[in-house]
Amino acid sequence: MSSGKGVILSGMRPTGRLHLGNYLGALKNWVKLQDEYECFFLIADWHALMSEYERADRLRENSLDMLCVWLASGLDPERCVMFRQSDICQHLELFFILSALTPVSWLERCPTYKEAVENSSTKDIANYAFLGYPALQAADIALYRAGHVPVGVDQLPHLEFTREIVRRFNNFYGGDLIPEPEPVLTEVVKLSGTDSRKMSKSYGNTILITEEPKELSRKINSMVTDPGRARASDPGNPEICTVFEYHKIFSPEALPAVESACRNAERGCVACKKELGLNLEKLISPIREKYLYYKENSDKVTKILEEGNSRASSRARENMRIFRKAMRYE
Ligand code: SF4
Repeated sequence: MSSGKGVILSGMRPTGRLHLGNYLGALKNWVKLQDEYECFFLIADWHALMSEYERADRLRENSLDMLCVWLASGLDPERCVMFRQSDICQHLELFFILSALTPVSWLERCPTYKEAVENSSTKDIANYAFLGYPALQAADIALYRAGHVPVGVDQLPHLEFTREIVRRFNNFYGGDLIPEPEPVLTEVVKLSGTDSRKMSKSYGNTILITEEPKELSRKINSMVTDPGRARASDPGNPEICTVFEYHKIFSPEALPAVESACRNAERGCVACKKELGLNLEKLISPIREKYLYYKENSDKVTKILEEGNSRASSRARENMRIFRKAMRYE
């Protein structure tokens, strides 16, 4: 039975090691939300399969690795439900029902679909499943009757799609069976990759949430700075420097000093990067330590996943019964 708190559903695709962008964009917020809502956090491996079908064998391992990072970052199995999508068969069941209610034209006009297919140079994702991913996303949310979804402003159109499908389902089968999910707006923190482009695994410019110290220093040292600052004696422009962008997020207290030292050529970029490295290591090292603990204790992680699956499954079964009854399709 529900705890009486609002229900939240959110998820991540297990396509590889999580980076700082994932941490700032989602995980950090999830850790806060687990005390305010009844949270269901989904390891979205069916979503991952749509693009990673050639390496399906990695999805199991990636899923467990991602769970280790979630736990290390502060998600607590006592305060939220962490589970794997492919272990709860009702996701596909509801996906199919919602697919039957989804006009193909809605999917074809989905801007993220077109954009993703056009921008994917490394793999062919123009497949049937990927076209239907908004319907699967809607099923993920509806299955737990989640009334809230944490999103950044840029993701609001995705949520609108879910709301439309849910509305259609409710119109067909009666009343307010499934809530139209409301956004819980999260702060959009944009973090560039080390080369100043968008942080993305495919660009090889990420910093992992669990980065090892040596690798962390190497990546920070490779970061793009103000190209006009050839010598330490040249005044710099921090506003065009990726290192400064990171300082804004990870060294907020030292920011005025960092800015002034740069503009007045009081210190070189090597020292500036070193300070950033120390601040990032302060954030990363406790997460990395816990991550390594979970990696070494995989039996604990498997048990947490099984328990999460069991809680999610029980809610999914209960809700599917309600939906089928309303459809007179028991
Ligand atoms: S001193 Fe720091 S902020 Fe200024 S250009 Fe160098 S790395 Fe960037």
